[in-house]
Amino acid sequence: MTDKPKVEAPAVSQRPTHLHTHTFHGLAPGPKLLVLGAVHGNEVCGAKAITQLLQDIDSGQLNIERGSVTFVPVTNPLAHQLQLRIGDRNLNRNMAPSAIPQDFEDRIANVLCPLLDAHDVLLDLHSFHTGGAPFVMIGPQDNSGTLEPFTHAEAEMRLAVCTGAPRIVEGWLDTYARGVSRRAAAPTATGTARAQTLVTNPNYGVGTTEYMRSRGGYGVTLECGQHDDPQAVQVARRAILQTLALLDMASVPPEPVPADREILRLVDVTDREHAGDSFSREWRSFDAVKAGELIGVRHSGFQVKAPHDGFVVFPNPRAEPGQEWFYMARRRP
Ligand SMILES: [Zn+2]
Repeated sequence: MTDKPKVEAPAVSQRPTHLHTHTFHGLAPGPKLLVLGAVHGNEVCGAKAITQLLQDIDSGQLNIERGSVTFVPVTNPLAHQLQLRIGDRNLNRNMAPSAIPQDFEDRIANVLCPLLDAHDVLLDLHSFHTGGAPFVMIGPQDNSGTLEPFTHAEAEMRLAVCTGAPRIVEGWLDTYARGVSRRAAAPTATGTARAQTLVTNPNYGVGTTEYMRSRGGYGVTLECGQHDDPQAVQVARRAILQTLALLDMASVPPEPVPADREILRLVDVTDREHAGDSFSREWRSFDAVKAGELIGVRHSGFQVKAPHDGFVVFPNPRAEPGQEWFYMARRRP
């Protein structure tokens, strides 16, 4: 028998190859809660809060008594490794299993979607780039429509309120879908054919919570604070504990919720049409505007003004042409 020639091991891909989850089963029956951190790789407050709570569970300071909870500290490990919002693409869009995955996020979705299916309630922990107070995103009112039929609006609102966020934002998917149908009618997007397909497909607006609702569950996205603010970790930690209290899964004393919270409804989205389109000032999410107030100027010189009194939300001065530049919201009456 001759010695086999020594061959170099094939170059090992440095890309993450698995999703790390932690599940605790209470010995009494109860709901199934899923808590996600770092769906966007540079939004780490949820991952940090989960790590703290895993230690509290291990040390016996926190006991899961009823139902089951699964924690996923880092839901997009590639984006997290890169310390970026996305890996190959935004994991929190176009969330669905793929028979033929095209990119890293498609492969994560093939593992994450069955996990979402196996739970009843989702708490998805994010953070944001610019300063401001935490806010929580909820889904639609109960409805039997075709876009996002839903029957758990009341339970979802209780979940949103228990997170302690002073601002609740609704109306994401139908506003997004309106933007999609406008884009499909007058495509201006540049970039790859796949990017073009994604921004003109209403499924592209489906993230973790929308997928959860489409499968009969409910959930909220909590934006805990600025990316690097240690306070955001405390917001995330409090929200997880208060969710466990709300769902009666652990003996955690309920904390008071803000009395002066406001509910804002997203009503419209405006796309950036050209790289020369620029904002009239540095907008921050939830800056109030009056009807007719100048928001930005198109490359053509056209002035983009506020269509009504309201708030600028998710302004993105560096949006790709053909993609969302800013949203407008109104206070829910
Ligand atoms: Zn995020």
